[in-house]
Amino acid sequence: MATLDAELVRLIGDERRVSTSQSVLEQHGGDLTAHAARSPEAVVFPETTEEVASVLRWCGAEGVPVVPFGAGSSLEGHVIPVSGGITLDLTRMDRVLELRPEDLTATVQPGVMRSALNLAAGRHGLFFPVDPGADASLGGMAATNASGTTTVRYGGMRAQVLALEVVLADGSTIRTGSRATKSSAGYHLSGLFVGSEGTLGVITELTLRLYGIPEHTVAARAVFPELDAACRTAVALVGAGVAVSRVELVDASTIAAVNAYKGTSYDEEPSLFLEVSGSETAVAGELEAARELAEGEGCTVFAAERDPTARARLWEARHHALFAFLARSPGKRHRATDVCVPVSELPAAIRFARATVEELGLEAAIIAHAGDGNYHVASLLDVDDPAEVAAVQRLGELVVEDALARGGTCTGEHGIGLGKIGYLEREHGDLIPLMRGIKQLLDPQGILNPGKILPAA
Ligand SMILES: Cc1cc2nc3c(=O)[nH]c(=O)nc-3n(C[C@H](O)[C@H](O)[C@H](O)COP(=O)(O)OP(=O)(O)OC[C@H]3O[C@@H](n4cnc5c(N)ncnc54)[C@H](O)[C@@H]3O)c2cc1C
Repeated sequence: MATLDAELVRLIGDERRVSTSQSVLEQHGGDLTAHAARSPEAVVFPETTEEVASVLRWCGAEGVPVVPFGAGSSLEGHVIPVSGGITLDLTRMDRVLELRPEDLTATVQPGVMRSALNLAAGRHGLFFPVDPGADASLGGMAATNASGTTTVRYGGMRAQVLALEVVLADGSTIRTGSRATKSSAGYHLSGLFVGSEGTLGVITELTLRLYGIPEHTVAARAVFPELDAACRTAVALVGAGVAVSRVELVDASTIAAVNAYKGTSYDEEPSLFLEVSGSETAVAGELEAARELAEGEGCTVFAAERDPTARARLWEARHHALFAFLARSPGKRHRATDVCVPVSELPAAIRFARATVEELGLEAAIIAHAGDGNYHVASLLDVDDPAEVAAVQRLGELVVEDALARGGTCTGEHGIGLGKIGYLEREHGDLIPLMRGIKQLLDPQGILNPGKILPAA
């Protein structure tokens, strides 16, 4: 075999789109977390489905591992090429192929960033709702079944994907789903590829749902004397059917970090960041209902933000919470647990997490997509301090065990990647043989993102 990069150049016919430069390899070898990095042997930047297919066909024949790569913002070591091989960076497949305002759909290539889709859809008064905070690629978001601040109202990626084009490990290309908003035609293969983390195929095209931009939107900050009251309010809002489009729980230490990082001056107390949208009258009614419920739980400040700039500032502060937290201890890495419990269990689950953080003597922040019962405990750790690493590991284990005991899941949105393989076994051990069978059928040689999701055989 000629050298790997020479073969890749031959396959896609453009040496500028195959890189073995150290900085590019390193950029594709790790993520923001404490998972150990490992560079791929080469990075390929395809521009068409045919190029993806010919690279996969060749890699399949030669047994070369392939890791698909979007924006690299995933948080469980998903993009780390633990078995070597190549990284397929899809960011040059970045065209919005078709917008159909009359059908409320868009068809995009996988490297389109969610912000770019929103820019294109916005010209038609439409938007794409899934908002994981980071500006991720739509292919990566589908591959992790991403969700985020708006999921309480619109659902996560699986609810938005109508159709996919996927290149399989043998280089063949399939199309799942249709442009229709619903279908009962056979097995839900789009749903299988969504959340498959690059282990079953490479997504090369997505048809997604869009929504009309609401006429009127108001954000609000509800401040509470204690975290439990904020949690109970979130549960009550969902239970009462208040039409919130966002309900995010942010603990006091996170708000202090955000204020220091962003220069904001939000009350440094446990808070809910809320958003309500719809017609002006409906928004006023829902906001009043939210205020009443919050005040019933002892809310001390309920500040509505109507001005678009103030609203944008509030959500930017929420989205930058992780970076604010990291900035507090330069040099430390972070590890975020991501569990999801039935929403009624959220207050008790978060009480347990807070007590466990204190018992283990860790520095950690708790934030939650509270309306979904999905919460994160983000811990800072010095990777060279074995005691701290062990304590963070223990925290993750205890929080996952607690979530499972409450009828929840080991990951609400970040996925399994490398970091949660053991927990997947704990949650769905009896289903691992079935999942392995699916992997074997679609990727018999195991070239697609090996070492992720499934435990070693
Ligand atoms: C500050 C911050 C906040 C975050 N908040 C959230 C949140 O609220 N909710 C949430 O869900 N996530 C969150 N994340 C995690 C991350 O943004 C999501 O997991 C996102 O969906 C990853 O998209 P990406 O384009 O970065 O994918 P990547 O990280 O590049 O890839 C993720 C996985 O998908 C695979 N993949 C990528 N593209 C394709 C493709 N075209 N075909 C097949 N497989 C592919 C990769 O192999 C990998 O396994 C956050 C991350 C950060 C940094």
